[in-house]
Amino acid sequence: PSPHLWSDIPILAPHTGQKTVLVTGAAGFIGSHVAEALLERGDVVIVVDEMNDYYDVSIKEGNLDLLREKAKKIAQQTNKMAEDILRIHVGDINNETMMRSIFDQHTPQWICHMAARAGVRPSIDNPQLYAKANFLGTMSMLEYSREYNVTNLVISSSSSVYGESESTYFSEAEDVNEPVSPYAATKRSGELLSFTYHKLYDLKITNLRFFTVYGPRGRPDMAPYKFISQVIRGGVIEQYGDGTTSRDYTYIEDIVDGVLRAIDRPYPYEIINLGKGSGTMLNEFILLVEKHVGKKANIKLMPAQPGDVPFTNADISKAKMLLGYSSKVSIEEGVRRTVLWFKNTSTEDGIA
Ligand code: NAD
Repeated sequence: PSPHLWSDIPILAPHTGQKTVLVTGAAGFIGSHVAEALLERGDVVIVVDEMNDYYDVSIKEGNLDLLREKAKKIAQQTNKMAEDILRIHVGDINNETMMRSIFDQHTPQWICHMAARAGVRPSIDNPQLYAKANFLGTMSMLEYSREYNVTNLVISSSSSVYGESESTYFSEAEDVNEPVSPYAATKRSGELLSFTYHKLYDLKITNLRFFTVYGPRGRPDMAPYKFISQVIRGGVIEQYGDGTTSRDYTYIEDIVDGVLRAIDRPYPYEIINLGKGSGTMLNEFILLVEKHVGKKANIKLMPAQPGDVPFTNADISKAKMLLGYSSKVSIEEGVRRTVLWFKNTSTEDGIA
């Protein structure tokens, strides 16, 4: 159905029962949380991640170790072997030999496709890398889904597809045909290609547009991580612009909840925003960090960056209507929990 008619679609009851779910990018921030939540509720999780060096690989290794630990615990409680509920494959989703062997071996029923090259600015320096990982990578997942009868896919898209939209709240019904970075263009292309696969092969696909996700195990290249780690360390925060830019910061637990809701309710084809539903100004965000760390930030003012959009606010009414989603973690609570995580994982030299 056209995205304009979504309000006529009734919310589906969730699927139940154990599934084998392939989670791509599960050594990364969002993927590792999704994989953990699937394990916790009793699904079998197949992980594939190439462990690229976009940021410190030891963080990704740590994320995989946490998943192994979690699987071990759950397996003990259920008299299983950890390998029965978690399998980890390291490699590129564009590697056909590896991917075929994964599908032959595990026959996943569902896919949460969280692997991608993330980050807007580096995509401008290396657009081909982004096209390969994000566009061709998504195409691979769609191809294998068709061939191996995976009917239900959740694909991670991004609020960056809204580009320089001037709407107060970004809604899925907006035109998103003017992406302003290669990253955004690859994300939008993935949405379009997944529509084609849905049409041709009846795959059930939900594209989720995530808005600035933060929380424990967050991505070190993103502002929330940088700000919190710098305030804890007493380092300098580079603040671009006057601090009035606003982002729809979304706590990881809400994102995971939305991903699970989407994988459990296979609509034929949808694009759905997943955010908190209101923006927070950079100044306010920094104030919250100072409050919860208990230290003043050391701010270095920098000129606003060209291409930086003034605000992003997610209209989450579609997620509410189709998935029964609502954001449950306030910005204050999210910052509090993230600071606590940083403090618990800090070493004497800084952040673990
Ligand atoms: P991340 O970089 O922490 O995780 C992505 C993982 O994918 C990494 O571990 C990486 O090694 C892996 N990967 C990349 N290319 C691969 C390939 N070709 N084969 C196998 N593995 C590959 O990023 P994240 O923040 O967890 O993002 C997850 C998804 O959510 C991405 O699709 C991203 O574009 C999207 N997203 C994230 C945010 C956010 O705020 N974090 C916002 C919007 C959209």
